[in-house]
Amino acid sequence: MNFAKPLVAWYQANKRDFPWRETRDPYAIWLSEIMLQQTRTTAVIPYYERFLAALPTVGDLARVDEDALLRLWQGLGYYSRARNLQRAAVKIETELGGAFPNTYEGLLALPGVGPYTAGAIASIAFGQTVPAVDGNVLRVWARLRNCFDDITQTAVKARVTRELAEIMPQRAGDFNQALMELGAVVCLPIGAPRCESCPVRAFCKAFAAGTVEQLPVRTKKKPRKKERYTVFVLQNEGSFVVQKRPKTGLLASLYQLPHTVGFLTQEEIAAWLTAFGARPVGELAVYSCTHIFTHIEWEMRVVCLEVSPFTPPVGLWYDGTQGLPTAFAKCLP
Ligand code: SF4
Repeated sequence: MNFAKPLVAWYQANKRDFPWRETRDPYAIWLSEIMLQQTRTTAVIPYYERFLAALPTVGDLARVDEDALLRLWQGLGYYSRARNLQRAAVKIETELGGAFPNTYEGLLALPGVGPYTAGAIASIAFGQTVPAVDGNVLRVWARLRNCFDDITQTAVKARVTRELAEIMPQRAGDFNQALMELGAVVCLPIGAPRCESCPVRAFCKAFAAGTVEQLPVRTKKKPRKKERYTVFVLQNEGSFVVQKRPKTGLLASLYQLPHTVGFLTQEEIAAWLTAFGARPVGELAVYSCTHIFTHIEWEMRVVCLEVSPFTPPVGLWYDGTQGLPTAFAKCLP
């Protein structure tokens, strides 16, 4: 016997309740998997429910305008996920006659869907016996097998995928979710894993060898690049100036607060305001904010002030409909 049977039994008895675990609708499962890629499970729930209420079908997602789509995503970050969702929905509607792909290969051909997501949807929604291997699963696997190979290596991931495929039971969706659940609540990424309550401890070679704390092995990530900006909150009677970002790159097509590279001195701030045509009314408030993206950290010095009414040379007055990404929303007073 391998660990699949006790693992799935444990999952079925102990799984946490999430709305995406109550459906077999591939569209809803796909949405949850994309949202869960970079965001904590509990944080995803309200976004998931709001998104599905607003756009209950693939067709609705394909047709929604970009601003409305990005507002539904506002706060989740990594907005390329939302754009890829829509690109995939358009592809399903226009090239596949509205039929959601029901195979691993078909899913993999959708924009924004990689091997992990394709495996998760194929197994959970369609019962295909394909693994879904992400960082959680790799960690659990390294410990179960007492494997000291570097889990960031593509070859290691490919081997784990192959080996998992060999032991997958028929209930592939439950098996994949059980491995993820074990990684999320028992075989933890940070802090000591809860081996005392692990349903597969009897199969765990790292536990037997006393090497749990040394696993998994992964090469260190490069440190994040730091960027500094001076960000302006130009307010007039509760409104403030926003600008549309370029169509490509970080936070593409989203709104931003006017800003400039580097920390400006008092004199430079005054010169910037003059050049922008903004006339301060009263005192300036200056404070700091930081925002962390995957590879970049923004250190922001925020200059917040009331200004006389004027027409910004670039941008528009915020009227409550533009969604500001979190990096800028956190700069508001
Ligand atoms: Fe992870 Fe401990 Fe279970 Fe091994 S026994 S799989 S290290 S929680």
